[in-house]
Amino acid sequence: MSDGQVHVGNAPQFTDRDAVRLARDLYGLSVAAERLPSERDQNFLLRDGTGLHPGAPRFVLKIANRDEALEVLDLQNRLLAWLAASDTGLEFPRLVAARSGLAITPVADEEGAAYFVRLLTWVDGVSLATVKPHSAALLASLGATLARVDRALAGFSHAAAHRELYWDLRHASMAWRHLDLIPEARRAMLRPFVEAWQALDWDGLPASVIYNDANDYNVLVDAAGSRVVSFLDLGDVVHSATVCDLAIALAYAMLDKRDPIAAAAEVVSGYHRVRPLSQAETDALYPLAAARLCASVCYAAHQARQAPANEYLTISTRPAWELLEKLASFPADWPREVFRRTCGYSAGARTAAALEESRRRMLGPSLSLSYSEPLHIIRGWRQHLYDAGGRRYLDCVNNVAHVGHAHPRVNAAIAHQMALLNTNTRYLHELLAEYIERLIATLPAPLSVAYLVNSGSEANELALRLARAHTGRDGIFVLDAAYHGNTGALVDISPYKFNGKGGRGKPAHVEIMPLPDVYRGPHSGPGAGARYAAYLADAARRTGGLAAFFAESASGCGGQMIFPPGYLAGAFAAVRAAGGVCVADEVQTGFGRAGSHFWMFETQGVVPDIVTMGKPIANGHPMGAVVTTREIAASFSNGMEYFNTFGGNPVSCAAALAVLDVIRDEGLQENARTTGDYLLAGLRDLAARHPLIGDVRGHGLFLGVELVRDRDTREPAAAEAAEVVDRMKDLGVLLSTDGPLHNVIKIKPPMVFGRADGDELLSKLSAVSYQLNPGRIASVRHRPCATGNRCGRRTGP
Ligand code: PMP
Repeated sequence: MSDGQVHVGNAPQFTDRDAVRLARDLYGLSVAAERLPSERDQNFLLRDGTGLHPGAPRFVLKIANRDEALEVLDLQNRLLAWLAASDTGLEFPRLVAARSGLAITPVADEEGAAYFVRLLTWVDGVSLATVKPHSAALLASLGATLARVDRALAGFSHAAAHRELYWDLRHASMAWRHLDLIPEARRAMLRPFVEAWQALDWDGLPASVIYNDANDYNVLVDAAGSRVVSFLDLGDVVHSATVCDLAIALAYAMLDKRDPIAAAAEVVSGYHRVRPLSQAETDALYPLAAARLCASVCYAAHQARQAPANEYLTISTRPAWELLEKLASFPADWPREVFRRTCGYSAGARTAAALEESRRRMLGPSLSLSYSEPLHIIRGWRQHLYDAGGRRYLDCVNNVAHVGHAHPRVNAAIAHQMALLNTNTRYLHELLAEYIERLIATLPAPLSVAYLVNSGSEANELALRLARAHTGRDGIFVLDAAYHGNTGALVDISPYKFNGKGGRGKPAHVEIMPLPDVYRGPHSGPGAGARYAAYLADAARRTGGLAAFFAESASGCGGQMIFPPGYLAGAFAAVRAAGGVCVADEVQTGFGRAGSHFWMFETQGVVPDIVTMGKPIANGHPMGAVVTTREIAASFSNGMEYFNTFGGNPVSCAAALAVLDVIRDEGLQENARTTGDYLLAGLRDLAARHPLIGDVRGHGLFLGVELVRDRDTREPAAAEAAEVVDRMKDLGVLLSTDGPLHNVIKIKPPMVFGRADGDELLSKLSAVSYQLNPGRIASVRHRPCATGNRCGRRTGP
């Protein structure tokens, strides 16, 4: 055929009764016939129809498409015989000759059109498409068996294999001719895949005769669903790049998988062990697999036009589209890197176990890893993290990658400025001027002098010095369970540290104020804010010598605590009355996360004397900032220079400016408000259904879910919270716990987190909460709470 197409419209139209007749007349078989699905041929399962001979052999009667050339059928027959004689460990159908002695028999239909008929023995098994789930062993078996087929076919040749077949990925351009039939939005989604296919270097890929159709309906698996036993339907056999065989298998192995790349990696691994892939083949795998999916949906669109009644045509399009949508959301370089690692082509790559071992030997042992089975993340993109094994995680906790992991605008700003100049604040630079002007413009008027530093800790350390220089005193008030940084002076004002493991207790110059916790603490309801603020007034009267009150504007380590209205206003008034200054630690909460406001302190209607910033400020580039009043800055300017080698360097300023630009241009503060409200409502709805959830709180994209074993006693469910976090990780969602009782699940995702992400989080959290609801499970070990003295105490009204 001129276009290499065997037309679906020319598929044979024999009836079951025709098949029975052909079996009898041509092969001398007395059987019942049952139609099997086929795109362009007709296949009938022939078996004993009487039920009297359960062990009787079964056959497949194959009637080829009218357009199929005789030499292609001969190619298939010879290839079957070749494979049967090869050492593949697989069982292939055998060709049964007709009574006439012919392997291929011409027959005519009612209208006199000629068709070729063959008979094959039946191979027992179930199709891969019907096995759920696909175990890692099964996927590896798919790769290994296909590799054995490809190894066997390396020595096979047949003139008819050198054909221009539309299912040959080398000729996928035949499919792209139908792109116009795809609706525009979806077509745009396919474009990068088509371009990646266009960029392939076919000369660099070894070629051979390949099976070319390891789709999940053609792959036959044993009854236990544990290993592949055969490949059916040799209709697409062609001489092409050998690696296309594997790429096609990957396209189908990825369908309906939560982690398609991880599933594909299992298949690649199994294949590579038997027939090692070159690096060029490894790199071609993903573009080829994606091209196969694109070709499928293009042909489906075309064929649906030709034969609207043929349901088989659309069987695989829904899952194919779903998969394509998922793949389109992945960073394109990630699957390639996963496959390179799988095949040993990633320079410097190490296994998770090797990395852990290196850390164990060489990294300070006080640095911890998250999760009992640590994650090995190699890529970030927007609100997702991508691991070395092909799994993607929805990141609900990284508030550093504020505008999304690997944001191109921030990356470009950093790369551009790094290539030009990176110096320090002892030279004049436009970016420094522009950044501090733009930063100060986000703050209320008295906050008008900035210092740029390298971390949240440095910011708080400087805030401490500013406060002490301004007041001439040392005393510090802090909130219970607070964390303000890792320097010696900050550990001393962080109850989370000095009262935690390895801590040396509260220093004399520090006073701990009760966390304004309206769920578990002594005060709630209207007036709770003022009552909690009264503790500061009391303490100020008792202690004297107050330099500063340090507080996050909503407490992170305290358990994602949102303060009752009036709390900070009352607290600030008390502190100022005692001559102290008020430091708002916005390291976690700043830069629009509150949604309703750019700074969380604004939700309390207060203006601090010093604001400290860090984490999100430059989207992961290490940076911090302190903004204060002119008066406090003047007090600090006592002749001693404040020099900070890296603070305020042009590269940091470029990164931080890009962050401000992106927050504005992508409407991320507004997104924090709407998505935050949506999540809060969804979480409250979950709480109504799951007794495990004692409290839900939050503002914008800063949320907490407090788990309890009993809603009356509020006994903290710390073990359950850890279990929820672990199970959510297994479901591909990253969360963590916080709070003094370790029973609060914190949610503070990158600000590009959207409604669909919220839906994913909510539905998975609902499933896991259901499993863990009190009384439902025995699987969670009820270990004693870490701060046992407070467990189970009902302190609320
Ligand atoms: N303040 C708060 C509220 C924090 O959460 C942190 C870090 N977790 C810091 C300060 C210290 O920031 P960094 O780790 O950047 O030094």
